Amino acid sequence: HVQLADWVDRVLPSPTAMLESTVAQYQREGRTVYRLGLGQPDFPTPDRAKASAIQAIQDNFTGYTDTSGILPLREAICRALHRDMGLSYEPGEIVVTVGGKHALFNAICTLCRPGDEVLIPVPYWVSFPEQVKFAGAKPVFVQTGASAGYKVTPETLAPLVNEKTRLLILNQPNNPSGAVYSAEELSRLAEFCRERDLWVISDEVYSAFVFKPGGYTSIASFPGMRERTVVINAVSKSYGMTGWRIGYSAAPAAVTEAMLRLQSHTTSNPSSIAQQAALAAIDGPQDDLEEIRNEYAARRVLLVEGVRRIKGLECNVPEGAFYVWVDASAWRGQTLEGRTISTADDLADILLTKVGVAVMPGTGFGSPHHIRLSYAVSREEMESGIAAMESLLGSK
Ligand code: PLP
Repeated sequence: HVQLADWVDRVLPSPTAMLESTVAQYQREGRTVYRLGLGQPDFPTPDRAKASAIQAIQDNFTGYTDTSGILPLREAICRALHRDMGLSYEPGEIVVTVGGKHALFNAICTLCRPGDEVLIPVPYWVSFPEQVKFAGAKPVFVQTGASAGYKVTPETLAPLVNEKTRLLILNQPNNPSGAVYSAEELSRLAEFCRERDLWVISDEVYSAFVFKPGGYTSIASFPGMRERTVVINAVSKSYGMTGWRIGYSAAPAAVTEAMLRLQSHTTSNPSSIAQQAALAAIDGPQDDLEEIRNEYAARRVLLVEGVRRIKGLECNVPEGAFYVWVDASAWRGQTLEGRTISTADDLADILLTKVGVAVMPGTGFGSPHHIRLSYAVSREEMESGIAAMESLLGSK
């Protein structure tokens, strides 16, 4: 028996990473699998980003860079934050990281003290509670529901706030629910955070994918919020660049300085080549994004219609990201293929093994009777996957 560090007992493995490796295993074995479970855009990295990376290699731009990332990239990030969100940051307030996940890790480890409480709306992205626990702080889950559009309000937060509450982790557009907050809703939340002296980590990695009119608003854009918010974003989802591993944080100088200190002793700078690719992606013409957004908007409608045809499944129309969050609680306690379904993990397992449909069970997102479907796959794969689900589960 090997004696390991305390955190090992607190922190769970990532279920999304596990599903990814199971799907890869199926594909290696030559089995048909409809990948409705994964969180990866199906369009390629833009040509301008690829060309820039190739150029970087040929120019021998292959050494260490500033820990915080190359200045032209941090300047481009500031322009993008201004262009897309109306936020004003200086390059000295930006840290370029190894994906958005790393920026979150820097921020959580820098803001959370042992024993601090961190408000996490349910459903949440799987890594939030695990990173908070790693930092020695305590996740406090805030329940939402379909009728509230899976959003929190000052009224739902207030009973959970005490003198230990330090931070709210707000992820919108939300993975997995697709919820997007209106400016009015954010303004009320911002006021609450100021009154209760809470910090906010605003995970905006899906900000490019908002389908409702009015577009995207960042909570950092409200008065008094910039100084208590760490904005997190990445090129991963917006530009089909998940494998390049480039994300960033925008935060007040004191927090940025501390996050940099952590990064200087852990990863140092992210890949110099990937930074050049990210610079070209962020700074280039953004019209391809519009096309992708329109395609996702159309697939979203098809997927919602498909889900609503299937017995025992219900869903809202998501306003952003590229997921449909499906309430499968009608299947709880039912028998399917000779098995009793106690949670959506059983349902997901039966769907994968019997009809080759990979869906993400909601357990890792704090909702054991939901499943998450992704429409970041081709229409054909999505439609075949839905048909396979319907053949197994039945129609309404
Ligand atoms: N935040 C959310 C809500 C996500 O869904 C993801 C990726 O799935 C990330 C952060 C991390 O993104 P990256 O691949 O840039 O680390």
